[in-house]
Amino acid sequence: TEELLVNTEKLAAVGQMAASVAHEIRNPLTTIRGFIQLAEKGFEESHAQLILEEIDRINLIVSEFLVLSKPNVVHFQNKNVKKVLEETIALFQAQASMNNIEVITEAITDSCRVHCNENQLKQVFINIFKNSVEAMPLGGQLIIRMEETPDAKVMIRITDTGEGMEAEQIQKLGTPFYTTKEAGTGLGYMIIKHIIEQHKGTLNIRSKVKKGTTVEMVLPISSME
Ligand code: ADP
Ligand code: MG
Repeated sequence: TEELLVNTEKLAAVGQMAASVAHEIRNPLTTIRGFIQLAEKGFEESHAQLILEEIDRINLIVSEFLVLSKPNVVHFQNKNVKKVLEETIALFQAQASMNNIEVITEAITDSCRVHCNENQLKQVFINIFKNSVEAMPLGGQLIIRMEETPDAKVMIRITDTGEGMEAEQIQKLGTPFYTTKEAGTGLGYMIIKHIIEQHKGTLNIRSKVKKGTTVEMVLPISSME
């Protein structure tokens, strides 16, 4: 019966998720419909821009959700997480400097092999970096650390000196569409949590308003070469 209970909970969660996706997509669709209706009476240039923006928003929401549909078929391989992390940092460097953010890498452990899907892991790092950048509109520091734990796991810690969060905000992370940003989707943490779960890892977030945020993830090290 325990398994049945878990399944029922999962179904309820899927139902809730479907309802919120439908809601988030219906909003821009309603806007688009309104503008097209207006266009019958003469098309205004500025409306075209708004319609495009709403279509882009639907596209973004749908593509973020696609990530969740893939894990069943994604390929897992043993990868050196140091390399995956450093490649992602390199990709991010330009965006960081443009935003006056200094990226500091501390004590990155040499080689830890993790059974992972490289692209998904990169997506987790990118989502966390992006949130940090968005939390530091006036610039700041992004401090990245990676070390092996005594129990054969690898810990990756990302700290920013941004606006931080209240405890209630931290609680809401991962709830689909929870965002405090005007152009946010509120899907970042849902995806981060899902991928970390797929990798049998854990996630821990600490934050202080106006001080900054620390995101810590722990992943099991693969014993096979
Ligand atoms: P989005 O970035 O689209 O808003 P996320 O799921 O990535 O969605 O984040 C949800 C919310 O959590 C953000 O809107 C923000 O309020 C808060 N948040 C996430 N990361 C940070 C951070 N590093 N510093 C401050 N607030 C954050
Ligand atoms: Mg985000």
